Amino acid sequence: MSYLKQADPEIYDAIFKETEREANKLELIASENFVSEAVLEAAGGVMTNKYAEGYPAKRYYGGCEFVDIAEDLARDRAKQLFGCEHVNVQPHAGSQANMAVYMTVLKPGDKVMGLDLSHGGHLTHGHPINFSGILYDFIGYQVDKVTEVIDYDKLIETAKEIKPKMIVAGASAYPRFLDFEKIREACDVSGACMMVDIAHIAGLVAAGLHPSPIPYADFVTTTTHKTLRGPRGGMIMCKEQYAADLDRMVMPGIQGGPLMHIIAAKAVALKEALTDEFKAYQKRIVDNARTLAEELAARGYKLVAGGTDTHLMLVSFMDIPKLTGKKVEKALDKAGITVNKNTVPFDPEKPFVTSGIRIGTPAITTRGMTVKEMPIIADFIDRAIKNRRDDEVLAGIAGEVADLCAKFPLYQERLQEV
Ligand SMILES: *Cc1c(COP(=O)(O)O)cnc(C)c1O
Repeated sequence: MSYLKQADPEIYDAIFKETEREANKLELIASENFVSEAVLEAAGGVMTNKYAEGYPAKRYYGGCEFVDIAEDLARDRAKQLFGCEHVNVQPHAGSQANMAVYMTVLKPGDKVMGLDLSHGGHLTHGHPINFSGILYDFIGYQVDKVTEVIDYDKLIETAKEIKPKMIVAGASAYPRFLDFEKIREACDVSGACMMVDIAHIAGLVAAGLHPSPIPYADFVTTTTHKTLRGPRGGMIMCKEQYAADLDRMVMPGIQGGPLMHIIAAKAVALKEALTDEFKAYQKRIVDNARTLAEELAARGYKLVAGGTDTHLMLVSFMDIPKLTGKKVEKALDKAGITVNKNTVPFDPEKPFVTSGIRIGTPAITTRGMTVKEMPIIADFIDRAIKNRRDDEVLAGIAGEVADLCAKFPLYQERLQEV
């Protein structure tokens, strides 16, 4: 018998339905993933009860001997996995990780460069409605209009001219490898500090499938819940010289008590990430993304930057009259396929409409789908877009999607629970 079902049937029911949704639909949101039962168990454990302000062996509270074990393991495993000098595993999320680095290095009003949101960057890379854009003077850089790859020459030129205090690299919707050597060059010619936000690509970096920024960057931030397949949270890696300042800025600077249950779950996910099985899993994510991109291109769809090196792709509808990301997201949703609308470079549409969608393969790869399933999924997407005004056809596709999902079970035990 579930304690939750008895105490709060409404929440029990919402969680049960969410479990069903995750199991029965095709999850193609590039920033999402399905964590293991072991990660869920740690995240749902009693460490949620513990106050542990401070760091292992230097806490402001008693009774921290066991949460210290969890945080030490998380830190050791992160260092081993990424080869970094120092790590802080306490940021509650990716946004807090970025805030802590900015506040460690910058003063309000300082010049910073970040990739424009409409070119693949993240809100925390200087968007005017985000704290980053409110507090700091962000100057955006962009992709080249023809290749849709970051214009590194222009970035270096601009950096030389404006002399930013920091250059932020990293993206939420950029399908190609990032060139850390070029970004380091931009930092060196301008005297800027280099921060790389690997929120999306952390799993690929850990598995050696994307170049690592660790040798180049002063700070590397990440989330733990995207390709890395851990609990929702953030993490910061840096050179030893910044360690003390950074730790002080995370706590007491911007956070209070750490989420020790989540830090325990981060440790579990990092242990998983150190295995050969995880490396093979990341390879399958990338193979699936490349195959899905090729299958969509073969069906006439335009991919931003011509394809993908990573776990995600952007499909652009800019050349198709009247088609928008908003319409496609809605049609795919009716067909049991979850994606998000996304602006594409030089998008004429507003962020709530957009001319594209972002598609990622981490979640479907976790449940076992391989390159064999990609043509089937490309067909679903293509048929749903072509029949977007026909609810009957879309419902039919949703049935086929559910059949495909049933072959790749997810959280089965949770669905049998009563
Ligand atoms: C997802 C993401 C973040 C923020 O993560 P939250 O945990 O949602 O705060 C930061 N940077 C990039 C590049 C991201 O993709």
